[in-house]
Amino acid sequence: MIIQSVNDLIGKTPLMQISGYALPEGTRIVAKLEMFNPGGSIKDRLGVKLIETGFLEGTINKDTTIIEPTAGNTGIGIGMAALKYGLKMIFVVPEKFSQEKQMLMRVLGAEVVNTPTAEGIKGAVQKAKALSASSEHTYLPLQFENPLNPQTYYETLGPEIVKDLDGEQITAFVAGAGSGGTFSGVSRYLKEKWPEVRTVVVEPEGSIIAGGPPGPHDTEGIGMESIPEFMSDQSYDAVHTITDQEAFYYTRELARRNGLFVGSSSGAAFAAAVKEAQQLPPGSLIVTVFPDGSERYLSQDIYKER
Ligand code: PMP
Repeated sequence: MIIQSVNDLIGKTPLMQISGYALPEGTRIVAKLEMFNPGGSIKDRLGVKLIETGFLEGTINKDTTIIEPTAGNTGIGIGMAALKYGLKMIFVVPEKFSQEKQMLMRVLGAEVVNTPTAEGIKGAVQKAKALSASSEHTYLPLQFENPLNPQTYYETLGPEIVKDLDGEQITAFVAGAGSGGTFSGVSRYLKEKWPEVRTVVVEPEGSIIAGGPPGPHDTEGIGMESIPEFMSDQSYDAVHTITDQEAFYYTRELARRNGLFVGSSSGAAFAAAVKEAQQLPPGSLIVTVFPDGSERYLSQDIYKER
């Protein structure tokens, strides 16, 4: 088969059993490997959905400038999806986020505007809104508010997981939350199918889902400074708050033991999946998501012992 566009390579990522860890008898942890998307992350799915829906609904035309606050992966996803239309793009990125992701956005033709790390993602959102207000023909997808974000994962990732497992019932779904789009969309899909499925949110220390004030963390791509509406509407059964040390430990171990080069949000998801495995009955089937790969974090020394 000959592929005509990278967009044809989005989704249908592998679901892999993660072996080599001490788990209760018969318990399995399986992970969707989202770094196999062409832009290298789970957010390719969102990028194509935002751009195609924008054209369908008329919020985007060929003269539109797309402006979006992003930690990087959503920008890369939007950038790839917008290529065939030649759209102008401005991505607003807090300066601490990986240089590799910023480089990939730029090579796709985007302008990257940095905001101070201390202002967090909120600072990036404010800056994006201000840029949009001062220019013409702009469209702000605003992944942190846009219902298309959870909808994307409800329509793609949820059904893929069920199909990959040939309908075998899942005990628990464990996923990190940055915007919460992935978690909300897949949880809603799974709960509609199996109301008793346990859904578990993963956040880094310094994220506010389990309570407490916002604070800094090195685990990249997850963590909330405020709760988006679609996340507060979505029920969940537990929250695991994972330290940077735990997240980066499992990020290293997934490379060493399994040959999986994943980002730190994957390490955090796996740390939480292991905690779940230890609490659930033997024979449980735990599904998690590895959102991206480690190679976009090498300049941050992702494999350094912490
Ligand atoms: N991990 C990484 C590496 C990400 O880039 C993101 C998206 N920012 C997430 C996890 C979280 O995904 P979501 O925004 O759907 O909660």
